[in-house]
Amino acid sequence: MAQIIRGKELAALCKQQVAERVKALEERGVKPCLAVVLVGENPASKVYVAGKEKDCAECGILSRVLRMPETTTQEELLDTVKALNEDESVHGILVQLPLPENLSAQSVIETIAPEKDVDGFTPINTGLVSLGDARAFYPCTPSGCMKMLYSVCPDLAGKRAVVLGRSNIVGKPMASLLLAADCTVTMCHSKTKDLAQICRNADILVAAIGKAKFVTKEFVGKDAIVIDVGMNRDENGKLCGDVDFDSVEPAVYAITPVPGGVGLMTRAVLMENTVKAAENACKTLA
Ligand code: NAP
Repeated sequence: MAQIIRGKELAALCKQQVAERVKALEERGVKPCLAVVLVGENPASKVYVAGKEKDCAECGILSRVLRMPETTTQEELLDTVKALNEDESVHGILVQLPLPENLSAQSVIETIAPEKDVDGFTPINTGLVSLGDARAFYPCTPSGCMKMLYSVCPDLAGKRAVVLGRSNIVGKPMASLLLAADCTVTMCHSKTKDLAQICRNADILVAAIGKAKFVTKEFVGKDAIVIDVGMNRDENGKLCGDVDFDSVEPAVYAITPVPGGVGLMTRAVLMENTVKAAENACKTLA
């Protein structure tokens, strides 16, 4: 039986630490504030934004949700982000993705001030992450995955890590963080040959491909730690990961569940990044 790395307990601990940092800031007269921009009516996005509001309330962070209609133009959206950049009472800015089809996410991301980029998606933060620079805001999902890994394996040095998926928001920064932790990292993607064989040799396997239950027991070794980033629906419409949990769990050392795994940690790290942004702003003022 594998050790189950539960997001609930780890996220609660992370948010408790954030709440303490928020209190310390409040004693200095600063109230951390996260602004979330939600464009359109995407039902999943609405659920995610509601989750962020709840997390903020739990941590003592102010949340300001700016709801914009589906018909919002690129210029209106950029102006909104620019106004938030200028607003000193706002410490973190997040534009909920995906945006309606007529809007470019990349130019919106590039408009967010790097010091308020709590999602860690701007080119400046991407660069800092790949430099292993602690000033970076680590993107929430990979950072949450690292915390989950450390919870079962405090010393990652020398571990063979395989990252399945090379997206800019998960796979690539995940590889950078693993490398910074002295892992030996292999990145795989849709063109990778002998995928199962490469994965089987991994001490750490991070699956972030968006394919329901793709990773089966043929992909894992018995001492592997498996981190499942995927958020998919199975054939019955039930939420599931990229890993076929039922077949993989008995075959590995530790594994994250879906739901109840990486998603909760992603949310907790957003809170951590927001309090870090507020602390940085405080230092700048001092
Ligand atoms: P993405 O941008 O669609 O990227 C998917 C990556 O997987 C690509 O690099 C793609 O390769 C690779 N891939 C696709 N099919 C593959 C296959 N059969 N074999 C090997 N590699 C394959 O996805 P993403 O945004 O990184 O998200 C991945 C998953 O994580 C999704 O299920 C998403 O919902 C979930 N997610 C969860 C959280 C959370 O908080 N839990 C956060 C973010 C994302 P190519 O580059 O060659 O196309």
